[in-house]
Amino acid sequence: MIDFHCHLDLYPEPELVLNGLKQKNTYVLSVTTTPLAWHGTSELVKGFKRVRVGLGLHPQLVLERSNEIELFISLLPKTRYVGEVGLDGTPECRQSIDMQKEVFHLILDACAKVGGRILSIHSRSAVSSVLDAIESHPGAGTPVLHWFSGTPSELDRAAKLGCWFSIGPAMLITKKGVRLTEGMPRDKILTETDGPFTVQDGKVLMPWDTIRAVKLLAKIWGIDIQAAHNYLMENLRFLLK
Ligand code: MN
Repeated sequence: MIDFHCHLDLYPEPELVLNGLKQKNTYVLSVTTTPLAWHGTSELVKGFKRVRVGLGLHPQLVLERSNEIELFISLLPKTRYVGEVGLDGTPECRQSIDMQKEVFHLILDACAKVGGRILSIHSRSAVSSVLDAIESHPGAGTPVLHWFSGTPSELDRAAKLGCWFSIGPAMLITKKGVRLTEGMPRDKILTETDGPFTVQDGKVLMPWDTIRAVKLLAKIWGIDIQAAHNYLMENLRFLLK
């Protein structure tokens, strides 16, 4: 199983989740929401071979945390993974959108300077602006759009720009999510949960619950679950090559 976007440090009992990961053979990208959280989260997952930690500065926190951009830039050479970063254009965050853009551009500039980064990107209600930023920083690395919720034409543009997509079970229970997923390049798809922020059937999703997304992807692709799993593992191997 693969969970390419969750927040291990924000689960109420991260140790329980980490123990579960060992048993369930799950590959995880644990994204952080501020550069200050990166070090502690990296310590937390030490010794877990299948877990990586992203260096992030969440768009919803930019208003209070923009001063951590310098810390972000100084830590960037230490990790291949960046996230959660991006833009949020929902009404609650719109007041900070100019500052968000400024910070996101600085992040992409820094990524282009070091090269070779993989980025887990938030684009809620701001897909076009996120794609503009990606387009204007061609060397910034490989963008993985997490929980994509744009329009079909934005999806086409994202695919043309070489974006990957991480898809969660919550996305695949909506008609819109299924339709978008059908239009995504199959060799650029990974699974995610966005746990602990997603709840299904009254329970917080755990990284191995991405099996639900694998089952739904198998259905969409018209193949069996094992084949879908193999396909996703092959995608991950290719991305990390
Ligand atoms: Mn997230």
